[in-house]
Amino acid sequence: METAQRFVGRTAIVTGAGSGLGRAVAARIAAEGGAVACLDLAADAVQETARAVGGGARAYPADVSDPASVKAAVEGAARELGRPSVVVTCAGVGKFAHAAEMSFEDWSRIIAVNLTGTFLVVQAALPHLLDGGGSITTIASNAGLQGVPYGAAYCASKGGVVQLTRSLAAEFLARGVRANCVAPGGIKTPLQRAFELPPGGDPEHLRRLMTPLGRSKPEEVAALVAFIASDEGRYMSGAIVPFDGGLTI
Ligand code: NAP
Repeated sequence: METAQRFVGRTAIVTGAGSGLGRAVAARIAAEGGAVACLDLAADAVQETARAVGGGARAYPADVSDPASVKAAVEGAARELGRPSVVVTCAGVGKFAHAAEMSFEDWSRIIAVNLTGTFLVVQAALPHLLDGGGSITTIASNAGLQGVPYGAAYCASKGGVVQLTRSLAAEFLARGVRANCVAPGGIKTPLQRAFELPPGGDPEHLRRLMTPLGRSKPEEVAALVAFIASDEGRYMSGAIVPFDGGLTI
């Protein structure tokens, strides 16, 4: 089957592009003709993505939780690759902990990367998106739509991403910028290793995170993101799309 070419002439900013979903999204957009600014904290990994993806991809090591780092990366991408019109925010971290024992550092890091980091990237890109139109696709989680035990910080951060996306969609609906959110669950990536049962945790509590459909692959999420971010998704804004094997039915 021929690959569609929905991103020819467009520049996309993809965060978390050093691994997992972000890497697959970067590869998909590049395969469809887009120039991709690959952002990630993991400098070597994101250089590797840009090399592997080829075409118009370029690495921008950046910490999404740091406003100056984000601004430098987004402005560098705009200068070198052209006006960004597509933003996909995949950078994320997670960890399970008993809510009563979670350290302030873990809470702060998860909120800073997942929620504040999503906002900072969108904020830095907005002047470019508003200058000719564009689309924002955020990545939340099933944990943004359901209660996940031992996931106080992760759930709170992802629920925040859901509402941040709705707010952006409402604010920019009439100004040519769409905002949508994909809420995946159970995708085979290195992040899943971060979600270990905390000491003394009850495995029964995690039963609700199992689905008979098993796990999905990053490429399947990337295909969905590419649809939403391209003109084929032009009538979508403010949508929260679960992609979780039915976890949140
Ligand atoms: P992943 O393979 O761990 O990729 C996440 C990437 O984000 C990593 O390269 C990571 O770098 C990077 N990152 C972490 N902190 C960052 C920061 N401050 N600034 C820039 N980049 C940073 O995880 P993934 O599964 O692809 O996750 C992508 C997104 O999907 C996340 O938002 C995650 O919450 C969400 N999600 C995943 C699943 C799933 O089942 N996999 C389910 C629901 C939601 P390091 O390796 O250096 O940390």
